Amino acid sequence: MTAPATTKELDAVVLGAGFAGLYMVKRLRDMLGMSVRAFETGDNVGGTWYWNRYPGARCDSPSYIYCFSFDKELLQEWEWSGKYPEQPEILRYLNHVADRHDLRKDIQFNTKVTAAHFDENTNRWLVETDNGDRISAKYFITGIGCLSAGQVPNIKGLETYQGDWYHTGSWPHDGVDFEGKRVGVIGTGSSGIQAIPVIAEQAGHLYVFQRTPQYTVPARHETVDKAFLDEIKSRYDEIWDKARWSQGGQPIDPVERSALDATPEERQQIYEELWKEGGHGFLFGSFWDVAADRRANDTASEFIREKIREIVKDPDTAEKLLPVDHPFASKRPLIDTNYYETYNRDNVTLVDIRHDPIEEITPKGVRTGGEEYELDIIVFATGFDAMTGAFDRIDIRGRQGYPLREKWSEGPKTYLGVANAGFPNMFMITGPGSPSVLSNMPVSIEQHVEWISDAIDHMEKNGYQAMEADPDAEKEWVEHVNEVADQTMFTLADSWYLGANIPGKPRVFMPYPAGVGIYREKCDEVVANGYEGFHLETKQAEPAATR
Ligand code: NAP
Repeated sequence: MTAPATTKELDAVVLGAGFAGLYMVKRLRDMLGMSVRAFETGDNVGGTWYWNRYPGARCDSPSYIYCFSFDKELLQEWEWSGKYPEQPEILRYLNHVADRHDLRKDIQFNTKVTAAHFDENTNRWLVETDNGDRISAKYFITGIGCLSAGQVPNIKGLETYQGDWYHTGSWPHDGVDFEGKRVGVIGTGSSGIQAIPVIAEQAGHLYVFQRTPQYTVPARHETVDKAFLDEIKSRYDEIWDKARWSQGGQPIDPVERSALDATPEERQQIYEELWKEGGHGFLFGSFWDVAADRRANDTASEFIREKIREIVKDPDTAEKLLPVDHPFASKRPLIDTNYYETYNRDNVTLVDIRHDPIEEITPKGVRTGGEEYELDIIVFATGFDAMTGAFDRIDIRGRQGYPLREKWSEGPKTYLGVANAGFPNMFMITGPGSPSVLSNMPVSIEQHVEWISDAIDHMEKNGYQAMEADPDAEKEWVEHVNEVADQTMFTLADSWYLGANIPGKPRVFMPYPAGVGIYREKCDEVVANGYEGFHLETKQAEPAATR
């Protein structure tokens, strides 16, 4: 890619206008005084919350901590209505942030970045879009989301289907009318378990096509009252500080008791209390070893299986819903509203496709187990090509034209999940190799945006032209991420964390599981040691040698 005469010169290009892109634009423009433009595929801000509008879409982090902390006045002003924030409310919040900080003027909507190539002669990135824009920028920063590349499985016959079909991750803005319809939902991950109970209330009949049964704990979603929020607001600094140095980006004290030291009666009582309370407290507030030791985990897994047997009235359906092939929380832990209860409805049928996989999609519906299920609407709640998929869809090339997708062909290799050796001046907000999806995302996003803008500030103040991860530091980081992952339950399930949901994707654990506090400490140490593990160049690069 060469730079034609019409190329626009900017300091920085940012990809995406979700939490990450919005804050990145704010920092670079208002703190560093840079010229910056964000490119966003959608016609408005919101990222994940712009696209995922399926019924029941909601975040699993408590609303008071699923927001930006940088704007302290807004923290005091904003009144969340629910214990967990619902998609429309989060979208409203992000629109408000964009307006309040006048961010839209530096965001180009309806524009997809198609290519970004590093030019070693100038130490600048040349960025191209599907609208024909060409931009030259010193810094190229991605805020493209970890779960933004939707995955519709390649099932034979989809093109012949005569009904309507949708993927939860790119839901129609006008909604979908399920009233009285025969609906099929394929997939029972976070999106499926949120959508299924809501669709069941509207549909004539709902068929749930389940490949892997899930462990899910009641969310106990409810409205929050003003007194509760006022109390939170009175100690917000302390709450944020706790979240920033925690395991998962939530203001939770780690529990020290072990499930294996407790008596069966004590365990039962604790699990019961936390089940009643709802939310992720069941995992984080029960016993420390549930997420770390298989025998401890078995006690929690069995408790949930027992709950399923108790809640679901039809024993055959209950049996099909029992998760037995992976431990609790080895996949993304789920919280729900009336998920298991939904299977007691007369208009809901669970179809086990583990034993009888979908053979084909026919013009009328789905064929499995020799039976054809006639459907007016199919909902694919089948997930995403996580963490790397959104990168793969852009032609990103570093030194000597080397493609990022080739560098990552055996799994993503990054330094700190923020930078790539061979790709100077490119920074990833919550990239693979950082805590990202294992944390409350706004906490991780703010940390990365601040770390990246501080690094850029450092470069500008000291006249550096290029900043690039050292290949050895990167190698060590990748090994470290794998070592930590091997000590967890996560490698015991076929999950998108490992790329297992995408046929042919290398099986590599992608996020960093040691926790946001430990990770923050490491990132701070890198800075304290003079950006250890990075090369900083002061002069213009020499023309590229051949590879
Ligand atoms: P997911 O967790 O990857 O679940 C996809 C579901 O589709 C699984 O049940 C999977 O079965 C099934 N599936 C995939 N391909 C299939 C095929 N070819 N045939 C039949 N079934 C198939 O995707 P997701 O539910 O969209 O969630 C992705 C992530 O987004 C979550 O883990 C979470 O991080 C985030 N998210 C969060 C929230 C929230 O905060 N509440 C809500 C939605 C999404 P297998 O398990 O057998 O592969």
